[in-house]
Amino acid sequence: MSSPLRKPFIAGNWKMHLTLAESLALAKEVAAGCAEGGPDVALCVPFTAVAAVAEALKGRPILVGGQDLHWEPQGAFTGEVAGRQLADAGCRVAIIGHSERRRCFGETDETVNKKIKAALGADLIPIVCVGETLDEREQQKTYRVLETQIRGAFMNFAPDELARVIIAYEPVWAIGTGKTAAPAQAQDAHTFIRKYVARSLQEKLAAGMRILYGGSVKADNVDALMAEPDLDGALVGGESLKAANFLRIIRFKAAAPGIGQAR
Ligand code: PEP
Repeated sequence: MSSPLRKPFIAGNWKMHLTLAESLALAKEVAAGCAEGGPDVALCVPFTAVAAVAEALKGRPILVGGQDLHWEPQGAFTGEVAGRQLADAGCRVAIIGHSERRRCFGETDETVNKKIKAALGADLIPIVCVGETLDEREQQKTYRVLETQIRGAFMNFAPDELARVIIAYEPVWAIGTGKTAAPAQAQDAHTFIRKYVARSLQEKLAAGMRILYGGSVKADNVDALMAEPDLDGALVGGESLKAANFLRIIRFKAAAPGIGQAR
């Protein structure tokens, strides 16, 4: 975490876990350990829990997020949820293009692009997920995949429109597998992403854009990851379901005094 332009952001992705009562209990436990002055924190909870968790976290320094949204503001789309419905229920953030949605539900760069537009239109902060599979990495296609996904996601946007967007670099081979990208490997991908955003859109946008790392982030690897200059936070799956572990991740130890969090 290097630039004062980029406040660290730690987001939990609860995926399809937890009942309403369990969601409320976890949200309250996280809130109790979350102090003002730390990184930005978001909990991306199941749709069924959004309104109740948002109500429970009112006045606390934690944003509530959805894990997806539809690109239309309303209509005959059975089973889908619109950005304006998420915002109305208390969401401030939406994950878009998670690899599980790309793999299991046919999400494409084109739908990601439409969903970013919808999220911004509903005043939500999009967390746009990109990342290569193991096969693609082994075939030296990581940069090509990242470039294609980001170009598709940001197609037809002006740089100013993307100022609030967050990217999450999530190598697919590291999600839920216990395998984390080595800090230098993650830094390399983040540098590539930032340079690509600078080259294809705008230097200023790239310098301020938060790029999170996601893929088996844990209490015992977060400090080393966050010491890398282009890692601006984390998108955390499994470990966000355990309050103590997630709180330790939020309290990552920044590389240098004055950067990231004071301790
Ligand atoms: C994720 O779901 O985005 C994720 C990174 O999961 P995990 O931390 O469990 O690998």
